[in-house]
Amino acid sequence: MTNTKPIDILIVEDELLIARQLASKLKKLGYNIIDIVSSGEDALQVAQEKSPKLILMDIVIQGDMNGIETAAKIYNNYSIPVIYLTAYADDETLNQAEQTGSYGYILKPFQERELHATIKMALRKHKKETELLRSLEVARQMREKIKAIINTTTDLDLIVNSDRLELERDLYSAIEREELQIYYQPLVNILNRQFIGVEALLRWQHQKRGLVSPGIFIPIAEDTGLIESIGEWVLRQSCIQVKEWQNTFSLPLKISVNLSARQFKRKTLVQEVSLILMETKLEPELLTLELTESLLMENNILVTETINELKSLDLKLAIDDFGTGYSSLGYLDQFPFDILKIDRRFMRNINDNTDKIALTKAIIQIGHSLNLNIIAEGVETEKQIEFLEQNQCHIAQGYLFSPPVPANDFQDFCQNNSMFFA
Ligand code: C2E
Ligand code: MG
Ligand code: MG
Repeated sequence: MTNTKPIDILIVEDELLIARQLASKLKKLGYNIIDIVSSGEDALQVAQEKSPKLILMDIVIQGDMNGIETAAKIYNNYSIPVIYLTAYADDETLNQAEQTGSYGYILKPFQERELHATIKMALRKHKKETELLRSLEVARQMREKIKAIINTTTDLDLIVNSDRLELERDLYSAIEREELQIYYQPLVNILNRQFIGVEALLRWQHQKRGLVSPGIFIPIAEDTGLIESIGEWVLRQSCIQVKEWQNTFSLPLKISVNLSARQFKRKTLVQEVSLILMETKLEPELLTLELTESLLMENNILVTETINELKSLDLKLAIDDFGTGYSSLGYLDQFPFDILKIDRRFMRNINDNTDKIALTKAIIQIGHSLNLNIIAEGVETEKQIEFLEQNQCHIAQGYLFSPPVPANDFQDFCQNNSMFFA
């Protein structure tokens, strides 16, 4: 073992001979056995007094509590990970142990190699969980400050009612008049400055008003239900487009598409996505669907089911604008996300704002603990890149590299600058 200080382990086992054999094997492996006890009550007491780093617990022990009940209490009260020791494992016992958040099992008779590997895995898992909790705690404490960072006024709030009605009416005809257009913004690996994919971003070229921001018309499209057909069109078009670019440039370019809440809740969504993937022959793993945090806050069974069904298509899922809907932070590890996109408001003036720095670091930590790829949005300066690089966030999107541009412009740019590709 490379650690200077040996790791303290408590053994809870009522068969003394087995306990002693185990202790001697563990000592040989370099661990420190702080005590051997035979009941759940004693285990709780030693856990409190001596704070071992790990407990190896027989499932059938003396006293009023079995090993599983004791482990749950120890974990809840003292956050000490417990590995179960068992001679055989029937399904019911394993199930029961699983529900208490198990750190692993070791089957009797104990093999040294298995012992060592299971202990190392349990300690690693616990370390990751502790880091995650610490980052969540930083984020929790900063709740008020986050509110100040995230200005809650939306573009739509700035529109007066009469305007909104007019826009709503115009939006219906916008589709027929083909005023909607998809722009593309590159995602960049900041270590080598190469494009790894694009995000599709909708634009509305209004006859009188000029370019209308999606911040204004997407909420209207949501309310009217128009987003369902618009969203499907965006997904199909951008898959077709990116497939074409993949062929032109012979590269596995990725495409990210935003999904709105209403689209997400459509019963036919998974079918639709699957059909578009088939039609366009796009490799599913090159498609990322971006969902916003507010969806997860609902945390109902339907959301979980849809997310799992989408994942079963082998595509990637990103959580967009992360950090704005603080309260869902704790639920994040329940969903099979692949990518976390840090909201662009965190990047703005980050180098001069210590709260933003702390919070963004905490968010990156949370992402790493959950094994997510992290993308920073709204990157406009080299100083922001420096910050991201120092904090191990390696993918960025922002005006520094390119604003969202029409498909033709993106293609021209790439043709003239082939070094931008990975
Ligand atoms: P988003 O998905 O978070 O997209 C990123 C937004 O950041 C885009 O705003 C992009 O133009 C902007 N941005 C990119 N780089 C920078 C930068 O360096 N600085 C700053 N200040 N901003 C930057 P955009 O295009 O106005 O879109 C706003 C939001 O509208 C999107 O946020 C997305 O939530 C939504 N949206 C856009 N297209 C669609 C769509 O097809 N479907 C749905 N459901 N929502 C969409
Ligand atoms: Mg997005
Ligand atoms: Mg975003």
